[in-house]
Amino acid sequence: AAPAPRRPILELPDELISQIAAGEVVERPASVVRELVDNALDAGATQVTVRLLAGGVRLIAVEDDGAGILREELPMAFKRHATSKISSLTDLESVGTMGFRGEALAAINSIADCVIRSRATGQNNAYLLDGGSGELQPVARSTGTTVEVKELFFSTPARRKFLKTDATELAHCVEAVRRHALARPDVGFAIWHEGKLVEQWRRCEGRGPALAALEQRLADVLGAEFVARSVWVDFQSSTSPGRSDNTPSIRVWGRAGIPDAARARADQQFAYVNGRFVRDKVLSHAARSAYDDVLHGQRQPVFALYVEIDPTRVDVNVHPTKIEVRFRDSREVHQAVRHALEDALAAPRVGSATSLGT
Ligand code: ADP
Ligand code: MG
Repeated sequence: AAPAPRRPILELPDELISQIAAGEVVERPASVVRELVDNALDAGATQVTVRLLAGGVRLIAVEDDGAGILREELPMAFKRHATSKISSLTDLESVGTMGFRGEALAAINSIADCVIRSRATGQNNAYLLDGGSGELQPVARSTGTTVEVKELFFSTPARRKFLKTDATELAHCVEAVRRHALARPDVGFAIWHEGKLVEQWRRCEGRGPALAALEQRLADVLGAEFVARSVWVDFQSSTSPGRSDNTPSIRVWGRAGIPDAARARADQQFAYVNGRFVRDKVLSHAARSAYDDVLHGQRQPVFALYVEIDPTRVDVNVHPTKIEVRFRDSREVHQAVRHALEDALAAPRVGSATSLGT
């Protein structure tokens, strides 16, 4: 066959680069919800309110009471690869925030109509930035930020065609917030759809220690049944070999369902690494294997597990949506999770956090 005609190599325009990035990061409204709630949490919010129209396709507005953005920095928010969260490779290797790529807002702004309203801590004035025109104008609001995303995929009709019904998209949005809510009992969350309150999870802080707050949040989000039919997990792995200091390398805690609570589908398995919801083969395999002796066939255990590990021992920069991570020593993590669950199932602490006096 004749060779294809040679074409010149050209640099892509910024807008198109962002649209390509959006293809990776934004599959549906729920992806936007996740990114915006990540940002709210990174800003130190204690209350996050999500408002949606038409399953999020017509409007996604996420309001927080976090640190806000200074007027002079607002235009940077929509810039590609602009972030306040890391500034060096060292930062990247020990990232403690949900975000760090500086890509989400730019990507979302390239496929929707975006507006940010923000008032930074200690400032008297709030400003609105229009992501389309770049215009900045004063508005009234309390400290914090609201990001509004309208008409998602208006410029990319091919993508829009893949969207399901409003009800289905709404369910995915709620699931995205649920994942955050299970990681942050200290933050209140509310979701509104078409002017109606869909879910509300009040902040559990000030109601006792971390375990009690988590128990309350689990009951609110997953139901009293989940708590009643699960046991506490709290495990600290011993110092890894070859390390001179005595810092325990991994902590695994949370709640694991009793064998009877197992389900046909793996739809109540929530795993977190340093506060980030992840889908990870190492974790899910380790969890399932802890149940090998007590669960038959394809039954899937339920759990909410929190893995805390030195951030330099896990790479979160392997997937654009950060839902996958890579452990430096995955065997160590596998063992910790498996032991944590086996211990919990062998000597169940069934009581509530309060009655355990923890
Ligand atoms: P990243 O989160 O990776 O930094 P984003 O595109 O999501 O990238 O956000 C860009 C920047 O905008 C953030 O680094 C942050 O400084 C600012 N920002 C975005 N959302 C908020 C918010 N809700 N509150 C305060 N600052 C925000
Ligand atoms: Mg972000």
